[in-house]
Amino acid sequence: MQALKCRSCIPVEAWEPSALTVMGDAIHAMSPALGIGANTALRDAHTLGEQLLAVAAGGKPLLNAVANYEQAMRDYAYHALRMSAFVGQKVIGHLPLPA
Ligand SMILES: Cc1cc2nc3c(=O)[nH]c(=O)nc-3n(C[C@H](O)[C@H](O)[C@H](O)COP(=O)(O)OP(=O)(O)OC[C@H]3O[C@@H](n4cnc5c(N)ncnc54)[C@H](O)[C@@H]3O)c2cc1C
Repeated sequence: MQALKCRSCIPVEAWEPSALTVMGDAIHAMSPALGIGANTALRDAHTLGEQLLAVAAGGKPLLNAVANYEQAMRDYAYHALRMSAFVGQKVIGHLPLPA
């Protein structure tokens, strides 16, 4: 039987917000050991959706909304990513992040 290869994104520093953003595995692919990758992607959709609603309501500039989404996403998603890596190491011997 062939082993399943798992790779993980590595958390990166904040970047300049623009009209282009990222969500889901495109920015925080993580070990499946915790089973929260898709859940985190759904949280992205909810968080970004709330921000875009504030833009549509007319009260918020788009770039501020994207910046708020990205800041929140980096906080919870990188935490999830690190927790997944930690559990992955314990449970399936998977250490995707550099020490
Ligand atoms: C073994 C395993 C078990 C997992 N178990 C869980 C679990 O129990 N719970 C949980 O929450 N998460 C789990 N996950 C993680 C979860 O599968 C991912 O986090 C989730 O699918 C990410 O969703 P996404 O939409 O960001 O990316 P994806 O699901 O990868 O979707 C991206 C889509 O974009 C398409 N695409 C790619 N390139 C292009 C292109 N150039 N043009 C057009 N389309 C393109 C792809 O075909 C794909 O359909 C698991 C992952 C693995 C590997």
